[in-house]
Amino acid sequence: MEVALLCIGDELLKGSTVNTNLAFLGEKLLENGIIPKLSLEVPDRDADIRGALDYAFSRADIVLTSGGLGPTADDLTKSAVANWFGVPLIRRPEAEHAVQEYWHKLHSGTAPVHWIRQAELPEGAEAIPNGYGSAPGIHLERNGKTIFLMPGPPSELQPMFTDSILPLLKAKQTDRVYTDLLRIAGIGESEVEDLLEPHLIPEVSAAYCAQPGLVRLFLTSKNEALLKRVASDARELFRANVLPADVTSLPEDVLRLLEAKKLMLATAESCTGGMISEQITAVPGSSNAFLGGVNSYANEIKMRFLGVSEETLRTVGAVSRECAEEMVNGIADRAKADAAISVTGIAGPGGATPGKPVGLVYIGVRLHTKTVVLECHFRGGRDQVRERTAAKALNTLRAMLLESAE
Ligand code: ATP
Repeated sequence: MEVALLCIGDELLKGSTVNTNLAFLGEKLLENGIIPKLSLEVPDRDADIRGALDYAFSRADIVLTSGGLGPTADDLTKSAVANWFGVPLIRRPEAEHAVQEYWHKLHSGTAPVHWIRQAELPEGAEAIPNGYGSAPGIHLERNGKTIFLMPGPPSELQPMFTDSILPLLKAKQTDRVYTDLLRIAGIGESEVEDLLEPHLIPEVSAAYCAQPGLVRLFLTSKNEALLKRVASDARELFRANVLPADVTSLPEDVLRLLEAKKLMLATAESCTGGMISEQITAVPGSSNAFLGGVNSYANEIKMRFLGVSEETLRTVGAVSRECAEEMVNGIADRAKADAAISVTGIAGPGGATPGKPVGLVYIGVRLHTKTVVLECHFRGGRDQVRERTAAKALNTLRAMLLESAE
């Protein structure tokens, strides 16, 4: 079984929409041991869609498409696919019922003709229910070729893929593929790769997916016993850096560790401007372990709300080891927190001074009475410096929490 992805939409080629559907589908397929053969992006044009289908079906027997299923004149995917397969579009009563029902949820009066056209499917196709939008998905199998059409909006595509299409794909997998996913915190992608290399065997393949502070390692194999052996070696190798299987992100793991010890966290952020507290509060239940923080961007706020001394700011400046230490102690004491994080640095592109380049960041982390301050030099633009700072701060606290548990 070979799968190809085809994302359709002018906006993808103009760069005005980031193709997150590709990222989502690629990751979900990988998690299930299916590595797509190729991916294409084409505009909403009949000839381009059909040309892409020629190529995709020359390399794969299953094509998944996203976009161009809606009611507007530029939504051409369905007719191009019907043309390519040489079948007519036929209005289907069950699809019409769902399309009408969705219209009445949003509007009064009768649905216009262009809306009802969403109930037309290529002959021989099945409609896939869309719980979050008007256009049904479509499943067509013909002459040994299978195609699944999904709507473009991620809020519609994601549940449709997970609930309806993925089970059908898995049923088609003749050779069962076993997978395991390890989330490894605090080690860079190339280090993970280098350390794992000697433990890999040809029957087990590894794919790495890096995000700030975390590497996701996908192991896949057709041999369950060999997969288990390599996964267990990897867990042993990376030990405390591997997040528990039910934890999906670094902030979630930090909160889990804090909560297990009944500790409360507070933050004082300068160059990240609240990014760390945003990441923490994005996790449901964060109030069990997070008190809050001070978004202390200006020196005046560092002094007034955190007690950073005027002398520190005058002599060594806000981007300094001393300032990070005073910030972390200031927030921990004022918030009566058991744990605290502070960050102060130069995210760029401006702001560098002699001896203080862009990417220089001081991170303070306090757990009970122990305080550490790190001097970090992050590469990249403003976004990367800020994201890497947040990840490093959380990883440092995570390591201190694990250490204190031993
Ligand atoms: P609609 O009924 O909303 O028109 P549709 O299936 O016709 O659905 P499109 O018109 O192609 O979908 O896209 C609708 C919106 O979905 C786009 O404006 C964009 O915001 C989002 N979208 C489309 N394709 C993608 C993609 N590949 N990745 C992320 N978002 C996408």
